[in-house]
Amino acid sequence: MSTSIAFDLSLFDWEEWVERESIPKYRALQIYQWIFQRNNSDPASFSNLPLSLRNKLAASFCWEPLELDSKLQSEDLSHKLLLKTRDNLLIELVIMPYENRTTLCLSSQVGCKMGCTFCQTGKMGLKRNLSSGEILAQLLIANQFLKEDRVTNVVFMGMGEPLDNYDAVTRACRVMIDPEGGALSKSRVTISTSGLVPEIRKLGRDLPVRLAISLHNPDNEKRSKLMPINRKYGLDELKKALLDYPASPRHGITFEYVMIEGVNDSLGEAKKLVHFLHGLKAKVNLIPVNTFPGVAMSASSEERIRAFQAYLSKRSIPAPVRYSKGQDISSGCGQLAAKREGELDLDPRELHRERRRSKKIAL
Ligand code: SAH
Ligand code: SF4
Repeated sequence: MSTSIAFDLSLFDWEEWVERESIPKYRALQIYQWIFQRNNSDPASFSNLPLSLRNKLAASFCWEPLELDSKLQSEDLSHKLLLKTRDNLLIELVIMPYENRTTLCLSSQVGCKMGCTFCQTGKMGLKRNLSSGEILAQLLIANQFLKEDRVTNVVFMGMGEPLDNYDAVTRACRVMIDPEGGALSKSRVTISTSGLVPEIRKLGRDLPVRLAISLHNPDNEKRSKLMPINRKYGLDELKKALLDYPASPRHGITFEYVMIEGVNDSLGEAKKLVHFLHGLKAKVNLIPVNTFPGVAMSASSEERIRAFQAYLSKRSIPAPVRYSKGQDISSGCGQLAAKREGELDLDPRELHRERRRSKKIAL
């Protein structure tokens, strides 16, 4: 455990390291580009570096902080990778290839301490934060897995509450969007949060990537029952922070809303939700809740979901329903519904093309 993880180092850190080792400064950028531009985690193959430096890199750092434990492919083309940390903890990674983009859903923590009642990760409690290098390793692994394809979008919707691991998550995001690093557009990185207000405000100042809010109930009292974080930061405070967030005028803010029968799916709640969203450019993803053993709840009926959706649509709030097609492999956290966006928007031709395309992906 003592060896530093190579991916934890920023370009600045590499510059410091080469200086300490009396290596010319320009080598730092070369190392950084090998890793994050070319997704290469084998320093022996960094061919424009002298052999002595390649050996030194291999000996001085850990290059495999996450080991592949197992992989599953869903019938709907999602790939779920279970990865093992150096201290033998499991995290999950979901790769979702689409016709025109490939979205990676990654984890920010092992477990989560927020305790949302409908969430399987929440039931685990928090084991530990992931480091920025462990977060970036997930992107590297996904890109290596995809071979000729590449991740185009990143969503922090795997395990963990990303804003509860603020420093490591923002550090990783900086590398992802750095043109010399992962070179992803800022508008293609989405942080999903249960609503940590001070960190939402900080993110708005530091690095305003796309924001998704797990709302799930527009009533303060009821939301507190579902999501304990609401007792600390209630809906009024959350709303103010969202009004201040510098979201892109084009994308606005996405709201995730799991539909739980008899809990949050009435038209009364739809009305309150419209009121809450007033003044924000919002899209609401309606997600029939994924159930798992030991939790007494069921997904809302198709009819209730459609009525809820119609209420929002009539008031000009786009509210696509995101059915989970990845349920067959979503055993780890039961959250694939939230991540597997878009199926309903696919027409059959596109689905067919996706199927053909999926065959290219080697398992
Ligand atoms: N902690 C962050 C990000 C990880 S959770 C957050 O809460 O936003 C990613 C998404 O999965 C969240 O919207 C979360 O509410 C949702 N989710 C959790 N449990 C779920 C379940 N049982 N069914 C469907 N979605 C779920
Ligand atoms: Fe944590 Fe998000 Fe699950 Fe809530 S929904 S317990 S914040 S991972």
